[in-house]
Order: sequence, then structure tokens, then C-alpha cells
Amino acid sequence: PQDVVTAAQVPFLAKQSFPLCMQNMYSRLHADAHLKHWGRMQLGLFLKGIGLPLEEALKFWRAEFAPKTTGEKFDKEYAYNVRHNYAKEGKRTDYTPYSCLKIISTPVPKGDAFGCPYVTLSPAELAEQLQALRLPSETVRDAVAKSKGKHYQLACMAVFEGQHTCICDSGINHPNQYYDESRKVLL
Ligand code: SF4
Repeated sequence: PQDVVTAAQVPFLAKQSFPLCMQNMYSRLHADAHLKHWGRMQLGLFLKGIGLPLEEALKFWRAEFAPKTTGEKFDKEYAYNVRHNYAKEGKRTDYTPYSCLKIISTPVPKGDAFGCPYVTLSPAELAEQLQALRLPSETVRDAVAKSKGKHYQLACMAVFEGQHTCICDSGINHPNQYYDESRKVLL
């Protein structure tokens, strides 16, 4: 069975084991105390996938929104969405976290944090972000070149390998797989 993750563990896990797409959305959420709809879906379902239960998810989103959104407003406008991701509202569809293919092929609404950064960032922006993660310069060069060549998942894999100093035989095809592989290496 999957380990349960608490809201309090998310910042630490984000730093250690989130792929760049999820790291970016989490940073944006934290900086803006808000995230638009698709970002909330992408990050929310990912967090569900890593083992954050509904009650912890409500705690997490409420706290992240708190600088701008009162508890009352959160309950009225956003809690439904969170429960919806956990199939507790609406049609009760059990939504699964998005794969790389889905994230890469979905057009990103302007100003939205949704999307794969190896697709959406310019080479200079990407290099800057990867340098900030203190990755070896070789890894940064390699990942930027792969992203330029439209080999987005290979760029992500190069970053995984640089970050974890290991070989990732399976490739990267899902943000939750990135996370799971990372936990395996680091635990
Ligand atoms: Fe996220 Fe997949 Fe893009 Fe990596 S390749 S950043 S896991 S969407």
C-alpha cells in the first residue's frame, strides 16, 4: 500500500522528488497564494497520486490560499474542486493524475502555470531554472539541448539523472512515476 503523505511534508518532498512541472506549479502557488484551474487540477491530482489523502489536501490548499483567501471563501469556492479531484463531488469520476503525454499535448492557457516546462520555457529560462536547482552544468546543457530538440521527456530524464546521480532506465512518462522512482532512489 502507498505511504500516506501529509500536507506538512509537501514542501520537503517537492524539493527532493517533484519533477520540474510540479515544482514550478507548487512554487507559483506558494508565491501567488493562488493557482488557476488547470494548474490546480494538474498539481492536485499529482498530489493525490503521491498519497495525500483528501483531508490533508483540503488542509494543504486552504493553507496555500490563506494569504489571499479567507477560510469561508475557500470553503465556498475551492473546496468543491479539491473534493471533486477525489471523486467526492459531481459525477464521482475517479480522476487519475495526468501523464506526461497529456500534459505535453494540452495547450497552456496564457498566464497559466499548467504544462511541461521543457515545452513552455525558453532555453534561457529553462537553463536559469535548472541552474537554480544546482544541477551539474553538463546536465543543464544536456536538458536544454533535448528540450530544444523537442525531446521533452528525455530532457526530464536527464534532469532526473543529474539530480539523483543515477541512471533512469525506464525513461520518464508520468510525473508520478518520476516521483516514485525518486523516492526509491532516495529512501
Ligand atoms: Fe512533468 Fe513529464 Fe514534463 Fe517531466 S516530462 S516536467 S514529468 S510533464
